[in-house]
Parts: sequence; C-alpha cells; structure tokens
Amino acid sequence: MTKYVVMTGGVVSGIGKGITAASLGTLLKSRGYKVTLQKFDPYFNVDSSHLSPYQHGEVFVTDDGSETDLVIGHYERFINDNLDWRSDITSGRIYRKVIDNEREGKYDGSTVQIVPHITDEIRNQLLKFDDDTIVIVDVGGTVGDIECTPFLEAFKQLNVLAGENNVAYVHVSYVPFIEMSGEQKTKPTQHSVKELQNVGIQPDVIVCRSDYPLELGSKKKMAAFCNVYPDCIIENLTNDRILEIPLKLEAAGFATAVLRKLKLEDREADLTEWKEVVRRAYSLKKTKQAKIAIVGKYVEMHDAYISLYESLKYAAIDLRLTFKLDWISSDKLTDGENLKGYDGIILPAGFGERGFDGTLTAAETARKNNIPCLMIGLGAQAGAIEFARNVAGLSDANSVEFGETDCPLVCGGTTPFKKGNHLTTIKRGSVLAKAYGSSIGMRHRHRYEINAKYADVLVKSGLSISGMSDDGFIDAFELPSNKFHVGVTFRPEFNSKVGHPDKLISLFLSSAAKDVAETKD
Ligand code: GLN
Repeated sequence: MTKYVVMTGGVVSGIGKGITAASLGTLLKSRGYKVTLQKFDPYFNVDSSHLSPYQHGEVFVTDDGSETDLVIGHYERFINDNLDWRSDITSGRIYRKVIDNEREGKYDGSTVQIVPHITDEIRNQLLKFDDDTIVIVDVGGTVGDIECTPFLEAFKQLNVLAGENNVAYVHVSYVPFIEMSGEQKTKPTQHSVKELQNVGIQPDVIVCRSDYPLELGSKKKMAAFCNVYPDCIIENLTNDRILEIPLKLEAAGFATAVLRKLKLEDREADLTEWKEVVRRAYSLKKTKQAKIAIVGKYVEMHDAYISLYESLKYAAIDLRLTFKLDWISSDKLTDGENLKGYDGIILPAGFGERGFDGTLTAAETARKNNIPCLMIGLGAQAGAIEFARNVAGLSDANSVEFGETDCPLVCGGTTPFKKGNHLTTIKRGSVLAKAYGSSIGMRHRHRYEINAKYADVLVKSGLSISGMSDDGFIDAFELPSNKFHVGVTFRPEFNSKVGHPDKLISLFLSSAAKDVAETKD
C-alpha cells in the first residue's frame, strides 16, 4: 500500500519546505523505507523549460529529459535516487490534461469542473506502488493562495480515499520572534492551520521554522490551538548548514511523528554516512583550499547555478578542502587580468549571446595561464570556439546559436533539443576516462552541438577529443598540455548526490586546490 505524506506551507514562502521534504526523505530512507518525492506546483507553466533562471533559478534536468523545478535536484541529492517528470507536476500540466480529455470526449458529456475533474486529475498524478513505498507530496505555494486551493481540496480527499492510516499531513510553518517585545509569536501558525482546517485538512505534524529555539510555551500553545500532539510540533531552527538539517529534524522527532501517523514501524535510522559527510563538511580541519571563479550570465541569481554549487560542495567535502567562490558576470568581463588570481575557473551552462565574449576571454585566460578550467554546456562551446579561433586558425569559428556563420564549429544538432540522459563514449587515457571510465550516460540540455567535422584540425593543434556522442558530435574535449582544461556538453552537476560527488567535478577541484599556506587570498 502506498503511504502519502502531504506537506503544505504556511505563513510565508521561502522557509525551506523543499529541504524539509527532502530531509524527511533522507530520514525515512535511512530507516530502510522506499521513498520518493513529488512536487505539486500551482503555477500554470507546464514544465520549467520556458522559465527564466532569474525568476525560478536553475532548470533541473532529470534522466528522462524533463525540465523541472530546482527543488527536484534537492530531492535527488538528499535521497540519492534519480527521479523523473512525475516528480514535478504543475497546474499547467493538470489543466492541460483535463482540457485534452474534454476535447477527446472522455468525460461523457458532463460539465467539466474544478471538483471533481481537476481534483481527480491531481490525484491521478500521484505515484502508486504495490508495496509500502512512502510518497512525500510537496504542495507548492502557501496555504491561502488562490492557486493552491484545488490541490488542497484534492489532497484533503486522500484521507478518505487512501485510508487515514495511509496519509500524514505535515504543515511547514514559520514562528517569528518580535525583537521589540522579545516574544515568539505563534499566531501566524495558528491562523495558517485554521486556513488549512477550513479546507478540511487537519495537520498531524507541524514543522516550525524559527530563528530561535521554540519555547515550551509556544509549543504548548500551537499544540492546543492547532489540535496536534505536543510531540508533533517539530522545531526547525534556521541553519545555513543545510546538510545538518536532516540530523536536526531527526533529533526533533520528525520522522518518528510521521511514521506513527502512517502506522509504520519506527525503525532505527542508519545515518552513519550522512553524519560522516556532515562531520567532514563542518568539523574536519581542511588543509587545502581553492579560490574558484564562476564566469556566467546569471551570476546575480545564485540559485541559477544551485546544482553546480551543491556539486562543488560535495566534491570539496569528499576531498576535505574548502573553496571560495566568486561570481563573475560574463557580460562585464572585458579582459582576463582579474581571473589570473584564481586557482580554478568554471564556465557554466547558459543560453544566448549576451556575455559570450566574456566567456571566450575567460576560456582564453584559463588556457594561456594554465588555470584549471571546467567548461560546461555553453561554457564548453565557448572553450571550443576560443581554441578554434586562437590556436587552430579557424578565425571565423562560431556557434549557429548566434546566427549564420561560415565556420559552424557549434552547429545545429540532429534533434531540436537534446535533453536528459545520453551516452558519451570516452577516449582512453583522458581526464574524462579517469573520471568516468570508457563511457558514461550523462544529462544534457542543449540545442547545439560541437561539430565533429572540425575534429581533425582541432586535434592537429593539440586538443584532445575525449568524448563522442552516439549521434556523432563532440561531447567532450580537453587540452592535455594543461593541468585541467576540460569541456563537456553534458551537465555533470546534475549527477551529484550527498556523499557521492561527481568525479569530474572532484578532479577539477583537486587540480585547482592548493595547500592552505600557498593560496592567494
Ligand atoms: N545554449 C547552448 C545550446 O543550446 C548551450 C546550452 C547549455 O549550456 N547546456 O546548445
């Protein structure tokens, strides 16, 4: 029987509901339960493919090529599993399905309405399993939002339809502290629970995000007014060490409270590996460090590169080193002088011509000064074009993404867009082979490809083609004369999990790292 944990958000957004849901996944999995997560987002975009990184941060790509909300990346990293499109359901997807059904005459002439057609379709999208798998359902938005209502209505009915022992309702709320009066305030939580009760959902567990420890009085008040057991009021203290959050929530009894409601055994959690990662991350003294520059287009919005940041973090933890990150706008980079002070440079994925000249400059600076450089997606296309123009004598080399060119070093692909997991065959003896062996399936998200027609001339000039796609394009290249100068069209950052960093990112960081004493500050 599938068990569901429906998680709603209250009071304000941005209080870490996604990380709370992912953490619950970690805690249940550590007890040997099978777990998966699904996000139900109220917005009408069908998926994240057209969403601007400035508004929603990174578009996370799953193995099946779905373009999802960045929280899916957190889920994958926290439960160490690969998810797919079913983990990112939006109102757009639901309404489109219902309208398509109506057009196909599937509703037998009945009037199509929010209840039951939309609410039924919402529940149709819930994953179902034959065994005791726990599905954590993260409902986007905040209770009281107009767009949220159909989701709440749909999940309210779950209690009856799936059976009350098979559903736990968790409300994630915020408990502010008013500095002037020195008081912790539970009223916003009480109101948001009332709002939830108005639609018929009685929370079983309330996770209270708070900047200060929850006072006993606050806990008692919330338990009484919100009608929950006192040990189901779970403290979630503000903590920028996000890897610590599952451990704190474990200590607060979060998973225990949820399992009790689901009538599942509260087995002992095996968090040994997770604790070791946390110890290495926050307690272990580091002897090496690296000063890294990310030269990208969306650098004002760090969430646009969240997977890249997290994957660097996991690699650094594994290598026991620290890294300092500077975000440099490719748009503003006119000469590479500033970059010479860095131990490593990353040119991340991106779209469009703005900032491309800056990216070329960064690639050239890294190559000429033997600064370890990891180039991803558009960054790799820039690295290839820079090398073609400045070393291989192909002065007109360019990408067709920016218009017609006589030398389409980056050309149109055979598919309009390559998304999701695709195979790369790797050259023996390369840095890439050191990371991944003879082949690797990695996630892609790009429209243009590095043209294999130019492989010979690039190779003659010293570049090594270290990865080829099965449809005949250059997936990876590297410069053997440099310490680390590697370009990959795929996205290694999407394959990192907590405690299991991506190997190429680890190789990059270790080639950039210096002993603490040596590092430039
Ligand atoms: N804009 C480029 C393309 O579509 C690169 C995309 C990316 O960085 N993955 O091919």
